[in-house]
Amino acid sequence: MLNIALFGPPGAGKGTQSEFLIKKYNLFYISTGDLLRKEITHKTKLGTEAQGIIASGGLVSDEIIVQIIEKTITDNPDSNGFLFDGFPRTYIQAYILEGLMLKLNTSLNCLISINVDEEISVKRLLDRGKTSGRSDDNEVVIRNRLKEYNNKTLPVLQFYKDKGIYNEINGEQSIEDVNFNITEIINNELSKKLLNIVIFGYPGSGRGSQGKAIAKAYGLEYMATGEMLELEIINNTETGIRIQEMYENGQLVPDEIVVQLIEKKLTNTKGIKGFIFKGFPRTLVQSYILDGLLKKHGSSISKIIEIEVPTLELIKRLDERSKTDKCMPYDTSTAKIVQRLQEHETKTVPVIQKYNQLHGVSKINGLGDFDEVYQKISFEIENGFKNLR
Ligand code: AMP
Repeated sequence: MLNIALFGPPGAGKGTQSEFLIKKYNLFYISTGDLLRKEITHKTKLGTEAQGIIASGGLVSDEIIVQIIEKTITDNPDSNGFLFDGFPRTYIQAYILEGLMLKLNTSLNCLISINVDEEISVKRLLDRGKTSGRSDDNEVVIRNRLKEYNNKTLPVLQFYKDKGIYNEINGEQSIEDVNFNITEIINNELSKKLLNIVIFGYPGSGRGSQGKAIAKAYGLEYMATGEMLELEIINNTETGIRIQEMYENGQLVPDEIVVQLIEKKLTNTKGIKGFIFKGFPRTLVQSYILDGLLKKHGSSISKIIEIEVPTLELIKRLDERSKTDKCMPYDTSTAKIVQRLQEHETKTVPVIQKYNQLHGVSKINGLGDFDEVYQKISFEIENGFKNLR
């Protein structure tokens, strides 16, 4: 997710810039001012409570704000990210935002403060008042809104300076120049974010070969836990020796070992654009592990893909593979093939279902030749990129 807060006095141009940003980055727009005005139009209890305060240019209570904002955020957990306009406006609201982001397993990426001189704000708002129909766009109320901004809202900036996500730009430039400055800040933020793709599919669906090709094309690190375990054995590492023993005793490799291997790669992401996970997570427990590991390293899953291939075709492919030199030790008998398909069905399908509910999973038809399927996956990823860039 890409979460941004636009900050600045009334009249700084937050609304104008938002229109462009939500389209460019496909973000969900949250303007607490708009939400409040909607409550007033619908004559709700909250609207009635807020009406007088807004008319006088004061700040509505944090209790009201938390109620209108919580629902909007939690109703849209699968959006690409949120753009906040006019929120947070108090220290308490900064903490509320922290809590809400945490709930969605994400965080605010940056705060952009659009700075304009007070007299320019007044002039712009008076101009806007001629057409906006907003009762709070008149001089007495405007002055009060600015007073509230200086007293209660400006101090909130320190919170974000301390967090290291504060950016400021000169809002007295042309709309295009402000646009340009904001885009620069956001693109810089995006370049810091890792692109993490999880690729699912039954054994034989082509997830391995596709995953590798995608990793190569997009400069991503290919994280295939099965192969990572193999590599430990080949390199005869301490962990490799332990894994070998487990294989020989017919034991499953415990999650602790896999976690350590993944963690090792995640701690050194210098120069890495992102990861493509194949063969992990395989179980619900592992899905929580992956979410936790990524979060610990300030990252999250960007895209989930599932390659779909009908069962009969899977069996045919795996059977064919067993007769070639690509035959894996687990392909050697029908019983083993069926066992792997069943494992996927019972353990991994629930993971895909969970992700589908939480983030959405892009389903790719895995029939057809390699290039055809590759093109479809690549299209999905490009789409994901576009949504964020
Ligand atoms: P805006 O549309 O952002 O200029 O907001 C218009 C008015 O709505 C403000 O002057 C406040 O009275 C109220 N308001 C909007 N957002 C907030 C907020 N986050 N906290 C308190 N009051 C708000």
